[in-house]
Amino acid sequence: MKIKAINNKNMSNSIISTKNKSTMKGLVYGGPGKIKYIEVNMPKITKSTDAIVKMVKTTICGTDLGILHGKTPSVKPGTTLGHEGVGVIEEVGSAVTKFKKGDRVIISCITADGTCEYCKKQMYGHCKDGGWILGNLINGTQAEYVRIPHANNSLYHTPEGIEDETLVMLSDILPTGHEIGVINGCVKPGDTIAIVGAGPIGMSALLTAQFYSPAKIYMIDLDENRLDFAKKWGATHTINSGENDVVKKILSETMDGVDVAIEAVGIPETFNVCQQIVRPGGHVANIGVHGKSVDLKIQDLWIKNITITMGLVNTNTIPMLLKTVVSKKIQPEKLITHHFKLNEIMKAYEVFGNAAKEKAMKVILTN
Ligand SMILES: [Zn+2]
Ligand SMILES: [Zn+2]
Repeated sequence: MKIKAINNKNMSNSIISTKNKSTMKGLVYGGPGKIKYIEVNMPKITKSTDAIVKMVKTTICGTDLGILHGKTPSVKPGTTLGHEGVGVIEEVGSAVTKFKKGDRVIISCITADGTCEYCKKQMYGHCKDGGWILGNLINGTQAEYVRIPHANNSLYHTPEGIEDETLVMLSDILPTGHEIGVINGCVKPGDTIAIVGAGPIGMSALLTAQFYSPAKIYMIDLDENRLDFAKKWGATHTINSGENDVVKKILSETMDGVDVAIEAVGIPETFNVCQQIVRPGGHVANIGVHGKSVDLKIQDLWIKNITITMGLVNTNTIPMLLKTVVSKKIQPEKLITHHFKLNEIMKAYEVFGNAAKEKAMKVILTN
């Protein structure tokens, strides 16, 4: 009897499933300025369209820092943060047909049911039962496990032969730079473009803008180290905005401004630069997440036939971007500067929060 009992115990230990695990570790928001890496409840399948994903790699986004600085009131204390990552399917609901236990997946930062009016227009960012909810309205990916609603439309199979950490760049930053910066900005062959802000999103715009062969790419930032990176990755011109009058310099070096000005910071000053450097017929594509209003110089702009765009990523270009990563047309792993274990996430936040001092671009956390 005694031996049998021990054997049973051993057996149950060897087939530990998440169903038996009731808690895990996650990075929880506690209100402005407060985060903690603590024990939280394991996610469970709540709808037949859900999947539970065991995180393999995740990262911290500028948006997470915005949440931490109180810029995003929709995020309630107690929410696990994070909306990017690669993982392995642990469990699926009965209606999930495209994925099964053991599949390796890229998690889109945008959840999409695939059936609502917005989804039918590929505006997944505004899905009636999704959009940006991960690490915002529901618990996110900076944890050991995450629940992904509408798994069929919100996950992507990982291709063979590409590192997981490379694929993490496809969750958010690459599609955001590409869709909201480059596509909305209508970058065309021969264009002169300016990207204001050389953080991960600005750099993603820099990498993906080159699909469309612009003639000149200005990269503008305060941080000389980031400008050096930008030069290596395809910028033809860099301007340190701390040392130069950006507007004056661009207007003197171009005929009458740039065809496309991409805003990748999210503060009034950078938007202001964009609206002053755009030439007649050009585009201002705002990517930045703004916390306050800007002064739109409509008195100067109305006569110039310009287009101003802004928006939330839809991630509808993930499949296309995946092909360019597989073919090595772009190498988004260039953006990764730091590696941490998931349980070192507090340290990772500190490093990412002091990006200029730490020379940090994208940090990878491994579960
Ligand atoms: Zn993000
Ligand atoms: Zn939808």
